[in-house]
Amino acid sequence: MVPIEKSFVNNMFSVEGKVAMVTGATGALGKVLAKAYGYAGAKVMMTGRSEGKLKDLEAEFKAEGIDCAYFVADPAKEDDVQALVKATVDKYGEVNILAVCHGYNKPKPILEQSVEEWQYIMDADCKSVYIVLKYVAQQMVAQGKGGKIVVVTSQRSKRGMAGYTGYCTSKGGADLMVSSMACELSAQHHINVNSLCPTVFRSELTEWMFDPESAVYQNFLKREPIGRLAEPADFAGYALFLSSDASNYITGANCDCSGGYLTC
Ligand code: NDP
Repeated sequence: MVPIEKSFVNNMFSVEGKVAMVTGATGALGKVLAKAYGYAGAKVMMTGRSEGKLKDLEAEFKAEGIDCAYFVADPAKEDDVQALVKATVDKYGEVNILAVCHGYNKPKPILEQSVEEWQYIMDADCKSVYIVLKYVAQQMVAQGKGGKIVVVTSQRSKRGMAGYTGYCTSKGGADLMVSSMACELSAQHHINVNSLCPTVFRSELTEWMFDPESAVYQNFLKREPIGRLAEPADFAGYALFLSSDASNYITGANCDCSGGYLTC
């Protein structure tokens, strides 16, 4: 039997000194996870398509003593992602952690949605995940030191919803992508690949759902044993756990972080 080591227990949640890349860092969850990695002592490479927002984030984080940088890239474009990986390695020498936080949705019934509109969602939420995972995993394999990959999908990856044929399909695809990549990468290359599946959390797009008096909010509470909707900060602990040695035996998992949504 392998004994438990005190030094392992004392350090198992640490990401200090690691290089963490965060996509969709300009979004509600991406910003919070990027900051959480930074507070935990990681070097943070933030990416997204909006240079102005990335620049502001860099200034905000640096003012708090976080070692960070940014690179503008569209995650659905292969050339952009290859350049992003190169820029990260040029700046920090390696990539140890990847958190995929970008995403897009524009709900529309299938009878009204054009194939191009559906494809745009698929590219934003599924193809882009494939491209980012592929090139970051290649880099991690070349480094030969393993790695941690966390992809934010959704509870909608497991259940359908009217108007969501693009979003549910792409998030379901991303969940299965994570599991398939774990089968390829974990045993041989010690890269853990997992997804986080939240329900609604507060962002610019969902803010309107957070009025406690509204029927929408009340309806959600009937399905949320935890008694409230989530804040982006609620997922920082899970993301850090999946990025640290504490989760070394977890891979290919689609991790529920829904406040108990699945239980009722
Ligand atoms: P936000 O909408 O706040 O931000 C997401 C970021 O993704 C944006 O800042 C944007 O960055 C980038 N993005 C937007 N559209 C595209 C696109 N077409 N192609 C590539 N990148 C794009 O998202 P959240 O923080 O709310 O969500 C983070 C993740 O969690 C997403 O994957 C989302 O689907 C998922 N999720 C969200 C829930 C919620 O309630 N908010 C619930 C469950 C899952 P830029 O413009 O700089 O590229």
